Amino acid sequence: AAEWDRFTASTPASGEHNTRAARTLPLGVTSSFQHWDPYPVSVASARGAWLTDVDGRRMLDLSMGFGAMLVGHLNPVVVEHVQRALADTGTLFVTPSPQATEMSERFCERFGLDMIRFTNSGTESLMYAIRAARAYTGRKAVVKIEGGYHGGYDALQVSVKPDLANIGPADAPVPEVPFDVEAGTVHVVPYNDLDRLGAVLREHGRDVAVMVVEPVVENLSIVVPDAGYLAGVRQLCDEHGVVLLFDEVKTGLTAGYAGAAQRLGVKPDLITLAKSIGGGLPLAAFGGTREVMEVVVDGRMAHFGTYNGNPLVMAAAKAVDEICTREALADTEAINVRALSAIDDVIDEYALPAHTVGLGVKGCVTWSTTPVRTYRDYKATDFAMAELSWLWGVNRNILTPPGLDEQWLVSLAHTDDDMGLLVEHVTELARALRA
Ligand code: PLP
Repeated sequence: AAEWDRFTASTPASGEHNTRAARTLPLGVTSSFQHWDPYPVSVASARGAWLTDVDGRRMLDLSMGFGAMLVGHLNPVVVEHVQRALADTGTLFVTPSPQATEMSERFCERFGLDMIRFTNSGTESLMYAIRAARAYTGRKAVVKIEGGYHGGYDALQVSVKPDLANIGPADAPVPEVPFDVEAGTVHVVPYNDLDRLGAVLREHGRDVAVMVVEPVVENLSIVVPDAGYLAGVRQLCDEHGVVLLFDEVKTGLTAGYAGAAQRLGVKPDLITLAKSIGGGLPLAAFGGTREVMEVVVDGRMAHFGTYNGNPLVMAAAKAVDEICTREALADTEAINVRALSAIDDVIDEYALPAHTVGLGVKGCVTWSTTPVRTYRDYKATDFAMAELSWLWGVNRNILTPPGLDEQWLVSLAHTDDDMGLLVEHVTELARALRA
């Protein structure tokens, strides 16, 4: 309660802004993930690794647009490419363009894809990737991970971080979508559980078009796959003729030069990309093997979008592709590894009931002494401690996403000193807890 008092006392302009915004924007925000009670921090501007909120506070940004700002706010290379597009090229042709073709070649090369199509959001990419899998297999059903979030498309709204009371015992029948659109077509399996996936596919496999999974689940803190899990998923999908779709909207470049699939050595049929590939502009994509993507060529499905692959966004994407070299990402990952290790030391020193998890340039503190392997493990972690830690940071000018989603992103603009502020923040919290 004292931390909430401190929050409202130090953010009056954010409070007033939310009151005004809520008159015309539901909850005063433009995406429900931006909302928290009593009101979120409203931001006026950002540069590099830092935000300035409407109260004039400078905050270290560790949320970085949920990972979309991997190269930092107002990255000079992105700004230069985008300004050139604005000044000389134009922003939208709705025709083929060399810019879009070049970026399709670059992305196919980087991510090991045969073909790719651009979209404007992760949600759209998931929607079309599922459509492609359905067109390819002639089947309708989808398998997804219990608790997993993949954007706002109807077929993926089932079992999105449900209350434990609603999901029943571990061997309960698969829950259905809570409204009509996709009822009966979505099967839910726990992450890291090949037995359950095998059982679902043995029972329903002939109807299943696609298995959708974040290769590393980054919407439930950061949950890494058990050794052999993703290879086992690949094998089961092959046995049942199911398209394997890795949702790399959150992992992508933040997991390494060519994403999580290549880092972990398992090749899906389709991947979805967004966030980190666009330098903060609305760019997303779905792509994969020629065999599956051929459905867009031969007319088994169509893929539309006025703004797809527009030259403005392509300019930003090219800048990101140039900036995110193997070396640049490895250097940034090294900053993250040092921060994770320093936080591990604090956890040990103060015997906090927590552990860290990292992947590439992302990391989190999970408030549990045992590893999180499934959604149910995640729900058993200490949410009160997670909220306190998050709010403690917000009150000391460190902004991470609320809740237990993946908590920080080290962007190419962050330094060891910046991450030192996070380490200091965890140390101070630990001292206060032990006092
Ligand atoms: N898939 C995953 C794993 C995500 O985390 C998100 C968004 O956070 C999406 C898909 C949806 O992406 P977008 O918000 O661009 O629609």
